[in-house]
Amino acid sequence: YERTFIAVKPDGVQRGLVGNIIARFEAKGYKLVALKMVWPTKEMASKHYADLSSKPFFNGLTDFFSSGPIVAMVWEGDNAILGGRKMLGTTNPRDSEPGSIRGDLCVITGRNIIHGSDGPDSAEHEINMWFKPSEVN
Ligand code: ATP
Ligand code: MG
Repeated sequence: YERTFIAVKPDGVQRGLVGNIIARFEAKGYKLVALKMVWPTKEMASKHYADLSSKPFFNGLTDFFSSGPIVAMVWEGDNAILGGRKMLGTTNPRDSEPGSIRGDLCVITGRNIIHGSDGPDSAEHEINMWFKPSEVN
């Protein structure tokens, strides 16, 4: 089965949406493989979003991502990476369908409450970044 890295961002944690989000992934039928709360450093945030380092919003994005604790998770299941992305909705919540996490729970791109890996390479990279091998058995 496929594994994906999902993180509730600082705004989602602060707004008390962790339980709601976990319930959706459990109800879908994915298996929770690992979970921890961690307050990312600016350095970890920059590494996590390294692909976006040339974007004008990169500094604001990494400041925000390191502004409070996140809830980092690994979820496993058939098609978990693409399926998880569909559950998240689009990057801009304005375009996210009702029924998706962003469509239901947030309104602006800069505070879109949840992160999900966008492909097999990023999933592997992100899982290894946030979890030790012994934590993702
Ligand atoms: P994430 O990687 O956080 O799951 P995503 O894959 O939907 O989101 P990315 O293109 O990877 O979108 O962008 C990462 C994050 O950067 C977005 O979730 C959003 O918070 C922020 N972001 C993306 N585009 C913009 C933009 N044009 N202006 C401001 N912030 C942006
Ligand atoms: Mg992304």
